[in-house]
Amino acid sequence: MQTIRGFRDILPEKISLWQKVEKEATHLFKSFGFKEIRIPIIEKTQLFARSIGEVTDIVEKEMYTFEDRKGDKLTLRPEATASIVRSYIQHKMYATDPIRKFYMVGPMFRRERPQKGRYRQFYQIDAEIFGVESAYVDSQLIFLLNQLFKRLGLTGLSAHINSLGCPECRPSFQKVLLDFIESKKDMLCENCLRRMDKNPLRILDCKIENCRNAIAHAPATLDHLCNECSDHFNTVKKALETQGVDFIVDKSLVRGLDYYTRTAWEIQTTTLGAQSAVAGGGRYDGLVKELGGPQTPAIGFAIGFDRLVEVMEQIDKIPEPLPLDLFIISLGDTAMEKGYHWSCELNQKGIRTEIDFRGKSLKALMKRADKLAARYVLIAGENELIENAIILRNMNTKEQVSLSMEDMIPELIKIFKK
Ligand code: ATP
Ligand code: MG
Repeated sequence: MQTIRGFRDILPEKISLWQKVEKEATHLFKSFGFKEIRIPIIEKTQLFARSIGEVTDIVEKEMYTFEDRKGDKLTLRPEATASIVRSYIQHKMYATDPIRKFYMVGPMFRRERPQKGRYRQFYQIDAEIFGVESAYVDSQLIFLLNQLFKRLGLTGLSAHINSLGCPECRPSFQKVLLDFIESKKDMLCENCLRRMDKNPLRILDCKIENCRNAIAHAPATLDHLCNECSDHFNTVKKALETQGVDFIVDKSLVRGLDYYTRTAWEIQTTTLGAQSAVAGGGRYDGLVKELGGPQTPAIGFAIGFDRLVEVMEQIDKIPEPLPLDLFIISLGDTAMEKGYHWSCELNQKGIRTEIDFRGKSLKALMKRADKLAARYVLIAGENELIENAIILRNMNTKEQVSLSMEDMIPELIKIFKK
């Protein structure tokens, strides 16, 4: 049996970078006042269709959707924002305190063409802030991402930012855009032609080369912002500058989800080939209302955890695992029983101890101790038990001492807790 296409195991030998990233990220989130939220892996299909947008790549082509035994249409979550918004509304969080900051880490599912940096089950580190419209929040989130990448020792990343406008300025922009697209109609793919009526903004996100060429000089939202959106974006830029966060204003950045308004951004790397975005985010001031809650401004980002780890693998050595402190060799039934209790006690005290229960010979077990790179070995056979002198061997210096059973545990703790 093999994993299915686009799904993979992350094996213990590779896990330490994942743990390092998660530890840094959660540490940083907490100092910025975020709280962890855990959301289901499956939701009603409706939730994603309505929030991400019916006419988007994710909803049209990438979702794992199925009917359960009762015929309910369900989907494996392709992203976290929709579920977190659902949760915010379902639990009426706006009523007790509309300002909320959440983070979550977990798997997402999209049926895309698998390749390096693109999987069908992938992981995201996600953060969302509800209830604040201020542009300082936008720059605060980009600053946070910048800090995280700095702490992880990553360089060569750039923040691409854009403003997508709001319901105030979008209709007039769409007109200008449609006029432009009309003139390029012959060059567009079937998908884009279909999108002309339903969702012309999506054409700006088409990955097909002919379409990309056609829209190369398309009008940009940034040149058609209303005054408020324009002021908002200027404040974001200024706040980033004052904090020394480098960014590139990228008029062509539109992002693949419909719910974004105003600021949208991507953190890109030059080292992962085509899969260049390691994180993406944006403001979605209309989504809470759209899904049935009160008008609530909100903003968030998602880091592509798999891609981030791949960038780190290029610069960071996978840290060596901690060595085993003690390997217990018990020879004979009575010694095995004692050894079992000693190991439980030491494990409980946080000392990395292993015991081999297979009843192998001393020679075989010494070999195993070498393989496990144990620092010390404890040897207990029938004689050692009778004489109450258990052997402790330092595998480095080859020195041996004997310990009485009463003193043994405190002695070992003394050695290993140093
Ligand atoms: P892309 O343009 O690379 O398809 P996206 O815009 O679809 O990315 P988002 O929905 O913004 O991605 O998700 C945020 C981040 O999650 C991306 O920047 C990326 O790092 C990561 N990501 C998205 N899809 C995948 C995938 N299939 N496999 C691995 N990581 C992914
Ligand atoms: Mg995508």
